Amino acid sequence: MTAHRLNGKGLANECKAALAARVAALKERNVIPTLAVLLPTKDDAALAYYRTKQRTAEKLGICVEGCIMADPSTEAMVDQIAAWSADPAISGIMVETPLPPGVDVQAIRNALPAAKDVDGAGTESLGRLLSGNPAFAPATATAALCLAESGGEIAGKHAVIIGRSLVVGRPLALLLLVKDATVTVCHSKTRDLPAISRSAELLFVAVGRPRFVRADMVAPGATVIDIGTNVVDGVLVGDVDADAVDAVAGCLSPVPGGVGPLTTTHLFEHVVQAAEARIG
Ligand code: NAP
Repeated sequence: MTAHRLNGKGLANECKAALAARVAALKERNVIPTLAVLLPTKDDAALAYYRTKQRTAEKLGICVEGCIMADPSTEAMVDQIAAWSADPAISGIMVETPLPPGVDVQAIRNALPAAKDVDGAGTESLGRLLSGNPAFAPATATAALCLAESGGEIAGKHAVIIGRSLVVGRPLALLLLVKDATVTVCHSKTRDLPAISRSAELLFVAVGRPRFVRADMVAPGATVIDIGTNVVDGVLVGDVDADAVDAVAGCLSPVPGGVGPLTTTHLFEHVVQAAEARIG
């Protein structure tokens, strides 16, 4: 038996078609949805990733404005975020990570206003997610949830998340609770991880270790969402050993072509939503 592949790329294309229509409607009202991106690095790989994002946005009619800072201070970053926050032409703001050593992560998170925090990274956005009054949730978490929903009902199921980062695992846990899943979050100190992951009907993996989840960690018929992106010998691989898990899982999200493309599309969807909210 082979697992049904969850088609993130296909879902992303459907989402893009709907977005293009919303962007056209905004343009008729003289609004161009604009994402401001703060890149606190001159790293070539980060710049290449940023330019890919910019090209994808442009195809949708969304403007991406970048600010590259080689080795910024916390104050310089906070000032830039404040300038964008006050600028009515900017719909959304995001800060690429990792931040340079010495930058106060908490100060950056505190500077992001929920109305423009389209990747849900700020203190206000995360607090609102926790309190049940969400603004924008992190796009990777919303994309992973969306992909899982494409494989079937979430309500009542036992969802296990491996990874508790602020950008993926924790917000995903809150989003799954809203959808009435029963949620277990695992991390590096979790005891007997295979036994817990085998109890999952929905298994989300965000560990950052190539092919970490083996077949014996998956229950027969489970839905497995691989959030990992690792480059091994120049090839993109996930956190799940897809070749082995394929024979056990019911549904499996591929890498590439799963959560990744849907994450970018969800980010741009949030930018459009922020632009729409400004004009009411
Ligand atoms: P992260 O901040 O490094 O967090 C990794 C998590 O995995 C931590 O909670 C860590 O536990 C846990 N972990 C590490 N080793 C473990 C082990 N042996 N057993 C159980 N848990 C373990 O990583 P992240 O930013 O969440 O990213 C995770 C993965 O998702 C990476 O591959 C990243 O590239 C990918 N990602 C993809 C997208 C996308 O758009 N597709 C976006 C963001 C991230 P502790 O908390 O105890 O350290």
